Amino acid sequence: MWRLFSMLGRKRALPVQITVTHPAAAKMFRIAQRALPNESGGVLIGTCSETGALISVTVGPGPKALHGPTSFTRDGEYAQLHVERHRRQSPGQLDYVAEWHSHPLPCAPSPTDSASMRAISRSPEYRRPIPLLVLCILASSGAWELRGYTYRGRRLQEVALVITDAETSGSEEAGHCNTEPGSRAE
Ligand SMILES: [Zn+2]
Repeated sequence: MWRLFSMLGRKRALPVQITVTHPAAAKMFRIAQRALPNESGGVLIGTCSETGALISVTVGPGPKALHGPTSFTRDGEYAQLHVERHRRQSPGQLDYVAEWHSHPLPCAPSPTDSASMRAISRSPEYRRPIPLLVLCILASSGAWELRGYTYRGRRLQEVALVITDAETSGSEEAGHCNTEPGSRAE
């Protein structure tokens, strides 16, 4: 079953779609709900291809994260630990894909969100010149929704985001999101 939460229905659609597995989405919703009235978040792990990202693992905030009603800073060591563990367990497959955090107030990405994605786009550590952000937004209906964004052209732009129950075949070779050739530091 496919549920389309947001879609760019324009001719100039970006060649990026974020697909989130149902368990990964459900975990974001659980973490976001538990943190109310504050924000929470973390990093997302999965695979990337030329056309988009498949997110299969949600990593939570970590014990040293800072939570406020309109701010969130994840525990960097905790995120790093989880990303490295998944890299080791599936060499060349699972890797860091995106940042995520919740917005208990139904608002669009903030200037802080834009600035932090800009910093990631310029950081050689992340190797993500076009980084991805997933926002978990509490709608007025009381339900959580996911929206996807990418930072390019000096601003955050919304991209299509789909939650899927389907197991993706994995026939496409996993690549590394937006990684420029030769830019891997390892
Ligand atoms: Zn935000």
